[in-house]
Amino acid sequence: MIISVASGKGGTGKTTVTASLSAVWDAPLLAVDLDVEEPNLHLFLHPEPAPPIKAWMEVPELNADKCTLCRDCVELCQFKALSIMISSLTLYPDMCHGCGGCIAICEQHALRPGKRELGVMYQSRAGKINFLMGTLRVGEAMSPPFIEQVKKRALKTIRETKQDVIVDAPPGVSCPAIASVIDSDVIVLVTDATPFGLYDFKLAWKSFSPLGKPMGAVINRAGLGTRHIYDFCREKNIPLLAEIPFDRSIAEAYSQGRIITDVSGELKAIFSSLREKIRALGSTTPPKEVDHA
Ligand code: SF4
Ligand code: SF4
Repeated sequence: MIISVASGKGGTGKTTVTASLSAVWDAPLLAVDLDVEEPNLHLFLHPEPAPPIKAWMEVPELNADKCTLCRDCVELCQFKALSIMISSLTLYPDMCHGCGGCIAICEQHALRPGKRELGVMYQSRAGKINFLMGTLRVGEAMSPPFIEQVKKRALKTIRETKQDVIVDAPPGVSCPAIASVIDSDVIVLVTDATPFGLYDFKLAWKSFSPLGKPMGAVINRAGLGTRHIYDFCREKNIPLLAEIPFDRSIAEAYSQGRIITDVSGELKAIFSSLREKIRALGSTTPPKEVDHA
């Protein structure tokens, strides 16, 4: 089973939930940090050091001696990653999406495959948990191709070992978040009961619903805010999987890089119950009707 822990915005406690759920998971597990722009799951799971594994994307390289400035590649590229300035072709590798079209279209064979570094992956063990994280290169504008490569590595690992997977997805509802959750069996949406939390929770629910995955909610800092998030979940038949209380001891554990299930038996019970509810949710079929209202 692949479980993605996602949220409509940052700061909801998504990584806290991922780490705690991983800690109470009672089957072989791969925990994956796909929040590649700001990975921090390792701060809680404390994996063993691992050598970096670089990830690359194919981008064109120019052999200027062969280029006749015909403009075919310039006109083909939808991303303006090539241009002709005065009497030379200029490439902008950071704008390239790696489609390979320019290389294929160039009859002079003036373009050949080169590469651009996307980021670095680390894979190791954190106690009984298999751990994988991706860190996007500073300055890299496109995280989805890198996320795909981290996912590819994760899928290869679970094909070989038959483990469950818990993914710490990027916050928000843009391309990186969709790329992260699209292969999940269950999506767990973490939020809080503030007006901002409700607004972003609705966005996330609307964005992920078309994927047709079973989804459930975890309310963090329960007791703060209003009851509107509960009303919304009831109205849309979104199962409430867990409520994590607003408690100073949780904030203290977080600031010390500790997993909150170590704080109290009550929290451990909340996450053990969450684990079982996720398993049950994974065996259900989500409602067909998608509400875009
Ligand atoms: S298609 Fe080839 S020959 Fe034409 S401008 Fe591009 S690189 Fe140069
Ligand atoms: S590989 Fe595709 S995106 Fe990149 S420069 Fe060529 S045509 Fe543009």
